[in-house]
Amino acid sequence: MKVLLPTSTAGSLPKPSWLAQPEKLWSPWKLQDEELIEGKQDALRLCLEDQHQAGIDIVSDGEQTRQHFVTTFIEHLDGVDFEKREIVKIRNRYDASVPTVVGAVTRQKPVFVEDAKFLRQQTKQPIKWALPGPMTMIDTLYDSHYKSREKLAWEFAKILNEEARELEAAGVDIIQFDEPAFNVFFDEVNDWGIAALERAIEGLKCETAVHICYGYGIKANTDWKKTLGSEWRQYEEIFPKLQKSNLDIISLECHNSRVPMDLMELIRGKKVMVGAIDVATNTIETPEEVADTLRKALQFVDADKLYPSTNCGMAPLSRRVARGKLNALSAGAEIVRRELSAK
Ligand SMILES: [Zn+2]
Repeated sequence: MKVLLPTSTAGSLPKPSWLAQPEKLWSPWKLQDEELIEGKQDALRLCLEDQHQAGIDIVSDGEQTRQHFVTTFIEHLDGVDFEKREIVKIRNRYDASVPTVVGAVTRQKPVFVEDAKFLRQQTKQPIKWALPGPMTMIDTLYDSHYKSREKLAWEFAKILNEEARELEAAGVDIIQFDEPAFNVFFDEVNDWGIAALERAIEGLKCETAVHICYGYGIKANTDWKKTLGSEWRQYEEIFPKLQKSNLDIISLECHNSRVPMDLMELIRGKKVMVGAIDVATNTIETPEEVADTLRKALQFVDADKLYPSTNCGMAPLSRRVARGKLNALSAGAEIVRRELSAK
């Protein structure tokens, strides 16, 4: 990126109400068949236009073509039975009815590659594409086949690598893996989680990112955050090994969270997508608040490696609020850019 402090979002943006019920996760589609395909593309274009108008530098599809950041990818794979459901605890936090792994997991055809090609045709800006990370994928399933979290994660990593190589060929500039599970299972992250992620990015020449957050602003997550005490030090457990990994960019939650900013020192040398927008509130940040978070981050991240972003996806918010937050992000980054160039 040539521009200083290039802005982006962590991933999802709200969908139009004619496509799916807003402010709801796993919201069912309101269209079918050909109309659904066209509707998703129209929504992608609108959401891209919102990013262009706000002046976002690295744009995305806003995940307009998927119901959920993990489930939609898994739905396209063989070996998982969505009819056979079991109750599991997701990220040690809340019970959910999840599909069962019943055989070898495989990807018969690309999942998002056509969508990425469509996005590529619509913009000259750099594009970022999000995929679920292997550990977060296994945490959303019941496994009655491999009976090993590590083995299943490794199989998913191989599949993700196939998809990522095709996304790169479609012109994606940054491929991001969403790993909120990294904030929970520290021993596994260090034992094999980061290794699985490195398997997923093997051979890629485009930039790669891992997004690690405290989740969407849904009740289960905000309740969990209340139990974490006055300082959230989860990142401390995984940053030393991530710093040594082959990933280029680490995407983090910062604004309004209790993450001590100095933990970023542990990933010195990496590019850091700093969450300067809180996705768990409808209050729209002022540009000055965004700038303040970025200034604090600059104590621990070199200016040429700081990428202003959002704490997480904005799918559960209203479109009005999400647009306001995109504008604030852009304006806040511009304040700090001017300060840096005046030095
Ligand atoms: Zn997130």
